[in-house]
Amino acid sequence: MAIEKTFSIIKPDAVERGLIAEILKMITDSGLKIKGMKMIHMDRAKAEGFYAVHSERPFFGELVDYMISGPVVVSCLEGESAIEKYRALMGATNPAEAAEGTIRAAYGQDIQNNSCHGSDGPDTAKTEVAYFFNDNELVG
Ligand code: ADP
Ligand code: MG
Repeated sequence: MAIEKTFSIIKPDAVERGLIAEILKMITDSGLKIKGMKMIHMDRAKAEGFYAVHSERPFFGELVDYMISGPVVVSCLEGESAIEKYRALMGATNPAEAAEGTIRAAYGQDIQNNSCHGSDGPDTAKTEVAYFFNDNELVG
C-alpha cells in the first residue's frame, strides 16, 4: 500500500446548503489528510477544461452550468490508497445507489447534484491536483 494524493471538490449544491464542514469531517474522520484547500468560483472555461473528458456526453452542458453555478471547495487529500479510499467514501455517482455512510448517500440530491468529486485513478489525480494547485499551495 502506498501513500497517494487525490483531488476532491465539494460541489456547488453542497456549498450552497452549508455542508462544507460536514463533508470535511467525513473526509478527515476517514483518515485522509488535507494537504491543500481553497474556495473558488470556476468560470466556464475552467469547468469545461476540468470535465473535458465528458465533453461528448449529453449532460455536459448542464454539468458545466451546475459546476459554475456557485462556489466550490477544492482540496488535495493524502493517505494510504487515497484515491480508492475517497471514491469509496463518496459512494456511487447516483446518490440513490450510494451505500449508506457515504457522502453522496448522506447529502447528494440527484445524479448531477451529487455533492462531491474525487479523482478516479492515479493519472487523473495528478492532473486534477495540478489543474487547481501550484506546488507552493500544498503543504509537505
Ligand atoms: P463521478 O463523479 O462519480 O466520477 P462521472 O465521472 O461519470 O461520475 O461524471 C461526472 C459528473 O457528471 C458526476 O459526478 C455528475 O455530477 C455528472 N453526471 C454523471 N452522469 C450524469 C447523468 N447521467 N446526468 C447528469 N449528470 C451526470
Ligand atoms: Mg469521474
